[in-house]
Amino acid sequence: MSIPSLCSPVVERLEPYVPGEQPRIAGLVKLNTNENPYPPSPRAIAAVEAAAREGLQLYPDPQSLALREALAAAHGLQTDQVFVGNGSDEVLAHAFFAFFQHAGERLLMPDITYSFYRVYCGLWGIGAELQPLDAGLAVDVGALAARAAQGPCAGIVLANPNAPTGMGLPLAQIERLLAACPQRVVLVDEAYVDFGGESAVGLIARHPNLLVVHTLSKSRSLAGLRVGAAFGAPPLIDALTRVKDSFNSYPLDRLAQAGACAAVQDVAYFDATRHAVMHNRDGLARALQELGFEVLPSQANFLFARHPGRDGAQLAALLRERAVLVRHFARPERIAPYLRISVGTPAQCDALVRAVAAILASNR
Ligand SMILES: *Cc1c(COP(=O)(O)O)cnc(C)c1O
Repeated sequence: MSIPSLCSPVVERLEPYVPGEQPRIAGLVKLNTNENPYPPSPRAIAAVEAAAREGLQLYPDPQSLALREALAAAHGLQTDQVFVGNGSDEVLAHAFFAFFQHAGERLLMPDITYSFYRVYCGLWGIGAELQPLDAGLAVDVGALAARAAQGPCAGIVLANPNAPTGMGLPLAQIERLLAACPQRVVLVDEAYVDFGGESAVGLIARHPNLLVVHTLSKSRSLAGLRVGAAFGAPPLIDALTRVKDSFNSYPLDRLAQAGACAAVQDVAYFDATRHAVMHNRDGLARALQELGFEVLPSQANFLFARHPGRDGAQLAALLRERAVLVRHFARPERIAPYLRISVGTPAQCDALVRAVAAILASNR
């Protein structure tokens, strides 16, 4: 920062999220940011085009009512149990502000999870208490529940399936956390749930402290449109709406509302593409295992894998030389041997496997 005195002091203390790179390299096999390899529903594209031709001079619906109704219908909820925002990252930011700022209390989360959670803690001044994953890199629900039951905490946040491991928890485990933390919100980020996880949305009716967050970026192929949602009891949705209306009344533009609505309603396309991704994932996992990789069981649209004889950072760099992009996290050290590989089309998966095989054979 060149002239820090011009900035609010808090700006210097921020530790921003670092997104995966979006380079412009011709012929790149891009498996680094968990985007969907398939395009969005043709009905979503048509709806965006129609919205672009009609009414862009007017503000969008500040309540995003049609989209919230479509999401409510898709999930068996009422409209007042649905909140939407500009990507689930914005929804999460509002949720951290609305639910987790309690003086002297810390927010419980797994030590290895979506790294944006700690960024929001830094932004809003929320203390975080990290619970290590167990020896198999699964979320240690027993330890989290015991800690929550033992004394005050600001709440619990976790991704299910978890990122970047891809491993999911069964619903009974989520219920354990809800029961252990009745005075505070338990936020379950289900960004990847449509690829084989168990959704907690059905628990909302019985648990007033449950907030479930979804995104249209992964299973609906709409990362470029920026649409996310939260589902919970009406008082939680009201709180999020108060925060949103104190920040930006129009977070979802007309194109986003129209496209998201059409995508949510195109169930056949959604089912076809998510099943294709799951099928490709299982084939890719087998191919990597045949090359000697250890692959964690994934319920997401990515694999978390390591090769016993190879350094993770070096493998990622060698793949990049061959125009194949995967994500590598140098920290925490425990996951440094792993690569996070987004599941692509069969052709992209083949290209990755060929590149890995060539690297292993070249002994570099
Ligand atoms: C991708 C991702 C998000 C962010 O989704 P957007 O809707 O694109 O902002 C949130 N949580 C997790 C765990 C993710 O992997």
